[in-house]
Amino acid sequence: MTNFEKLTLPERGEIITFNKGIPKIPNNPIVPFIRGDGTGVDIWPATQKVIDSAISKGYGGEKKINWFKVYAGDEACEEYGTYNYLPKDTIEAIKYFGVAIKGPLTTPVGGGIRSLNVALRQIFDLYSCVRPCRYYSGTPSPHKKPQDLDIIVYRENTEDIYMGIEWEAGDSNCIELINYLNKTLIPKSGQLKNKFISESAGIGIKPISKIGSQRHIKKAIEHAKRLKGDKRHVTLVHKGNIMKYTEGAFRDWGYELAINEFRNDCITERESWILDNIENNNEITIENNARLIEPGFERLTTSKQEIICKEIKEVISSISNSHGSNKWKKMVLVDDRIADSIFQQIQTRPQEYSIIATLNLNGDYISDAAAAIVGGLGMAPGANIGDNAAIFEATHGTAPKHAGLNRINPGSLILSGVMMLEYFGWVKAADLITNGISKAIEDKKVTYDLARLMEPKVNPLSCSEFAEAIISYF
Ligand code: NAP
Repeated sequence: MTNFEKLTLPERGEIITFNKGIPKIPNNPIVPFIRGDGTGVDIWPATQKVIDSAISKGYGGEKKINWFKVYAGDEACEEYGTYNYLPKDTIEAIKYFGVAIKGPLTTPVGGGIRSLNVALRQIFDLYSCVRPCRYYSGTPSPHKKPQDLDIIVYRENTEDIYMGIEWEAGDSNCIELINYLNKTLIPKSGQLKNKFISESAGIGIKPISKIGSQRHIKKAIEHAKRLKGDKRHVTLVHKGNIMKYTEGAFRDWGYELAINEFRNDCITERESWILDNIENNNEITIENNARLIEPGFERLTTSKQEIICKEIKEVISSISNSHGSNKWKKMVLVDDRIADSIFQQIQTRPQEYSIIATLNLNGDYISDAAAAIVGGLGMAPGANIGDNAAIFEATHGTAPKHAGLNRINPGSLILSGVMMLEYFGWVKAADLITNGISKAIEDKKVTYDLARLMEPKVNPLSCSEFAEAIISYF
């Protein structure tokens, strides 16, 4: 075991180990926690109390988390010295113990770190950011039917424009790159014709790899397999109509994964359409089904018509035995949507979606938009998951103007704790908390952020009173 410079290990507890991305959870794991900056001083103690009470109530003395305090952000600088926002101790502790939970962290100004959250994701290769968005009855919402939204956004966490590979306009390296593109690479690439980048542009690079996309989509499909009924559904969200070799490739690699690695568990939307038409159409000639499946079939060229007929034949010959006779209806449905349309669809037809697997930037936008529908960031949890570590975190920031006033909503961090308990398989404790939160909100026992939106207005509880209210329903 690593020697820590300043940390004090809990007296008891065992480590969480990983085998091919699957965690093995002992009954008494040691879990490092980062309190967080700003309102972290309010929401962490409230969260810890709720989690401990739920485990104790759900499992008696059989299970217990041994909390291990580690430092990041402003608190780390106080303990380890100026600009030491992410001490080696903290990195080693999370690496060794595998699972951690954290409050919000201030993005440091100076010290060479862009964002501590991004740094943690990169150091531990936490490639999937998971953000569930569901409605708790009674939460004020700008939406007419927020209860219809119950989705989990899987946002890729390590690639895309978020890698931060960019050059400022006017920078000499930026100009060198633009000249190389304009004079050498673009003319060499036939499909780019005579495109030209202005010398006054800034440049950002958007790398999207097959390995990065597929390991992430794999986590989303594995999650969908654990769900029931219509919720066994993964939607690949991309802007592939415009960015063919990055976002479009993400979609293609997703389908490829579903068909190759999850063949016994998955059906694509197109395959389901073909099987459905074959089985429910009296005239079962390939051409007739092709007409149903491809709108405007008659107007297509003969060669395009032949490709579609071949596709239908292939689907019938390869999966009609395993997936036909409606067997596919119990499998994970994999489809895809263009990113801009999903913003409409989660508002107009939210009940049609379950797991949204998407790239980094799209996921950032979509998860915040979905959180707004169900009641805002105060109730939106998050987890960053890799193959050898997982960090659960509140999705909001440090909200400095509320820090230390015991008034902020601890819901996001508490619900991140629920995600951690579910990840452990400690479902009894997780369910006690979600039920407690639902009841507290239904009874209008809420913090200021929700209280001010309720009609008629209610008196707000403090952060710690809200935690006590949740516990009172256990
Ligand atoms: P913020 O801390 O999320 O706060 C913005 C506003 O959101 C707050 O003033 C508050 O609105 C509302 N809010 C935030 N947390 C809430 C909660 N728990 N309950 C209810 N309402 C809540 O965003 P920011 O002011 O832009 O960022 C402050 C710092 O946090 C920055 O340094 C930023 O980099 C960092 N940050 C960290 C993370 C992270 O650690 N994951 C994420 C985002 C930002 P009202 O005042 O109107 O009630």
